[in-house]
Amino acid sequence: MTIEHTLSIIKPDATRRNLTGAINAKFEGAGLSIIATRRLHLTQAQAEAFYAVHAHRPFFKDLVSFMISGPVVAQVLAGEGAILKNRDIMGATNPANAEPGTIRKEFAESIEANSVHGSDSPEAAAQEISYFFAGIDIVK
Ligand code: ADP
Ligand code: MG
Repeated sequence: MTIEHTLSIIKPDATRRNLTGAINAKFEGAGLSIIATRRLHLTQAQAEAFYAVHAHRPFFKDLVSFMISGPVVAQVLAGEGAILKNRDIMGATNPANAEPGTIRKEFAESIEANSVHGSDSPEAAAQEISYFFAGIDIVK
């Protein structure tokens, strides 16, 4: 295994309920390090650009509205196999299908308001990290 970087977003349903610390405890408890972090309130154009890959999905408009309904916390997580490890810690997209102990099982409100985003491949991780962070923002 090699050290990977992945992009995580704590979504508005979770920041609204003050769950940033509880969610970060899951990442850190599983051995992922937070090497960059930034709280921001996305504009519609920024959310649409971030989720452009889903632009033709029926839920796209609702997803963008949800993602701009409050602040998010964008973070770079680092660790051995961080991309897949983060996806495991997150749990399935639909919290009804998520494993016990995962973030989405414990905290998600619905398949849409599911508390966290995580990159799903090395290519996506590189692209999504560069969307939110400059090199100087990321601890070496
Ligand atoms: P994941 O976040 O697990 O990688 P996707 O990339 O498929 O899932 O979808 C991106 C986001 O879009 C999901 O995290 C969720 O917020 C929303 N979403 C996915 N599928 C649906 C759906 N069927 N209805 C409403 N929202 C959805
Ligand atoms: Mg995805």
